[in-house]
Amino acid sequence: MKTIKPEIITENVKRLCIEAANNINCEIVNALKKAMNNEVGLSKEILSQIIENDLLADKENIPMCQDTGIMVVFVEIGNEVFIDGDIYEAINKGISLGYTEGYLRKSVVKSPLNRINTKDNTPGIIHIKHTMGDKLKITVCPKGAGSENMSKVKMLTPADGINGIKKFILDSIKEAGGRPCPPLIVGVGIGGDLEKCALLAKESLLRDIDDESADPDCLKLERELFDEINKLNVGPMGLGGKTTALAVKVNIYPCHIASLPVAINIQCHASRHKVVEL
Ligand code: SF4
Repeated sequence: MKTIKPEIITENVKRLCIEAANNINCEIVNALKKAMNNEVGLSKEILSQIIENDLLADKENIPMCQDTGIMVVFVEIGNEVFIDGDIYEAINKGISLGYTEGYLRKSVVKSPLNRINTKDNTPGIIHIKHTMGDKLKITVCPKGAGSENMSKVKMLTPADGINGIKKFILDSIKEAGGRPCPPLIVGVGIGGDLEKCALLAKESLLRDIDDESADPDCLKLERELFDEINKLNVGPMGLGGKTTALAVKVNIYPCHIASLPVAINIQCHASRHKVVEL
């Protein structure tokens, strides 16, 4: 059995919060560069400025965007790991220190009704999953409101089928336009129930940008949606172009015979997330 002290969790979450805000993932820069080479005129210029912004933020160690998000944290705890304390408290302490010491914008209000800022960006939204082994894996994923607000869930019927799913996704992207700061990573969750499909969509955003689904039906849908989304001419920052999505990820789960829940979770071009394994 491996024992992990809460202070270790706090220290790592604090570091990851700052890194996620300031240091762009290489795979995103590479995807943006590839997209830029495929564009001309204004859309090429916009992608060039996004890349310049991201690389400058990384070099100066300052946030790549003013909206440093609400912190979503995914935790996987192996059955041979003992946490010597309250893991929720340890994570939230890490978020608080990360946002305070990292001078990141605090974007969380205590109540959606009274709108009073908590002043340290806590609490985070924490999802805990139990796995096998002696590892504790923590992934932080700050989510800006621009992209999160354009995300949706719809309870389709089985008769709506693949065409109904595609229509829902394409309509959502068209309606969102430039508001979620395209080019996007489009996360799609299909199956489960109301809350499960939303979680599937969010989890799909954590997959590597080049990762393709191992399920042949999902893979086909990912490729078709990617092509169809990029034909919408929404383009970088909604000003037209060939690149509306950098990637489309589809995660699925079994569901009721009479249900077809679908969720779209949109991620902006910043696509911030950082991982640690303890
Ligand atoms: S959608 Fe992303 S890039 Fe746009 S403002 Fe929000 S966090 Fe920043």
